[in-house]
Amino acid sequence: MNPRLRSARLYEEAQQHIVGGVNSPSRSFKAVGGGAPVFMERAEGAYFWDVDGNKYIDYLAAFGPIITGHAHPRVTEAIVRAAQNGTLYGTATEHEIRLAQALKEAIPSMDKVRFVNSGTEAVMTTIRVARAFTGRNKIIKFAGCYHGHADLVLVAAGSGPSTLGIPDSAGIPPSIASEVITVPFNELDGLRAALEQWGDQVAAVMVEPIVGNFGMVMPKPGFLEGLCKMAREAGALVIYDEVISAFRFHYGSAQTFSAFPDQDAVRPDLTALGKIIGGGLPIGAYGGRADLMEMIAPLGPAYQAGTMAGNPASVLAGIACLEVLREPGIYDRMEAQATRLCEGLQASADKHGVPLTINRIVGAFSTHFCAGPVTNYEEAQHSDGELFGHFFRCMLERGVYLAPSKYEAWFLTTAHTEADIDATLAAAEDSFREMAAD
Ligand code: PMP
Repeated sequence: MNPRLRSARLYEEAQQHIVGGVNSPSRSFKAVGGGAPVFMERAEGAYFWDVDGNKYIDYLAAFGPIITGHAHPRVTEAIVRAAQNGTLYGTATEHEIRLAQALKEAIPSMDKVRFVNSGTEAVMTTIRVARAFTGRNKIIKFAGCYHGHADLVLVAAGSGPSTLGIPDSAGIPPSIASEVITVPFNELDGLRAALEQWGDQVAAVMVEPIVGNFGMVMPKPGFLEGLCKMAREAGALVIYDEVISAFRFHYGSAQTFSAFPDQDAVRPDLTALGKIIGGGLPIGAYGGRADLMEMIAPLGPAYQAGTMAGNPASVLAGIACLEVLREPGIYDRMEAQATRLCEGLQASADKHGVPLTINRIVGAFSTHFCAGPVTNYEEAQHSDGELFGHFFRCMLERGVYLAPSKYEAWFLTTAHTEADIDATLAAAEDSFREMAAD
């Protein structure tokens, strides 16, 4: 008897009404053997319960935002309070100032902030600002980085587009795609060559300073520093997409992370944010140098607006989430758990002869089913999708929910317990054994 019968039935029904049965392609199980995705009913702390009553330990964390676990009491209380006071005003509120202040304190390269509704919007607008300011059109991005689904950045995109084999989306006019130059991550030669050829036309170099979309990948020492220097010499701006990385590794963003001791050398001009800063409600934000941000209406000639932008529920949930993250020891605990988990996963995989390379950064990591290292998109593509799919299904059967893509990360939250790590390791040992036997 199918333990996910109701999910299977709902999937049949969903496909009649919702394209592909899912509202974001990354939720489909197409890349992990197909069939019905799991329909969840409820989530609390580190757990999901599906519509058939199965319980799962969650490492998806909603693709990143859920760092305090599901339904954290402080975040929930903030949302309830917001709802009781009316969900949307279309006016300014004091809450927006408080969240903007918190973000600026944590990420000092942002003199001014603007809230939007998603990471996609945030990235899209940083590009508009960069183009308006420089009067140039071209953007340089890095292969395998995902920056949302706006036209300009759906070229050589990682994450969902790569998972589904469509890194260069249909529907993007060649005139737009021709404004995007893609170079390899973690080596400066490609960037240098691109800047030599098109430097005076490049508005911005856009990068995930710590990559989360072809697995978790740290920039090699000197890469970000070199990137910033070369962009500046060409008169181009540097845009960091910190939609995943902000507040994921410490209370701050990649640009203020201890791995980069010379913070001035890795300072971007503009930063895009999302995910964690909304505490699990829809949000995005972008910010940067005052003279750049003042290009935006109502101060400047570049337009960006939003009916839902800065809505009280998202903003108050974000403030509550950041308050939780400011508690001492939070990140150390996630790091310790992730370390133990990664060591155990590696030992089990090695024991059963399954090729596995793990890239871990604090409490987030990616599992690549290939020999390492994985430092760029090309290497990440070597990860064996069939093996990952098999592992994904084995873990699902044992009550562990992973992102259904070989490129997505596992995220620890403040809600995971030592017992959850033990249970996950036991499930993994079993899974690797089954995979080796097949
Ligand atoms: N940038 C990065 C680095 C992301 O990981 C994502 C989403 N995974 C986005 C932008 C787009 O954010 P959203 O899905 O909120 O539009």
